[in-house]
Amino acid sequence: MSGPTIESVRASIQDHLKQLKCSVCGEALAKEIDGKILVEKGELHAEWGYASNNDGVVHHLDLCESCFHLALSTLKSRAVKTLDDDTAVSESFGIENHIE
Ligand SMILES: [Zn+2]
Repeated sequence: MSGPTIESVRASIQDHLKQLKCSVCGEALAKEIDGKILVEKGELHAEWGYASNNDGVVHHLDLCESCFHLALSTLKSRAVKTLDDDTAVSESFGIENHIE
């Protein structure tokens, strides 16, 4: 008896990645470049507990680049309105690390 080959496992993982879609607009999150499947996505995720108003609720959205930046710009505009120090809201809002 033989199990699945490495090639068949790799193919099924690639099929799975190709089917990943943005939770908002449905755009594919994987692109094939030079034969490699590359997944590019942002995530909005929360697991609410007892101290919250949403105890037991898990929120999760996988977002394409466009929808992620729409969410980010909405949050950034809220930060501009709510933070006293407007220098705290810069071009790098939300960026934790930038690797070239
Ligand atoms: Zn999207």
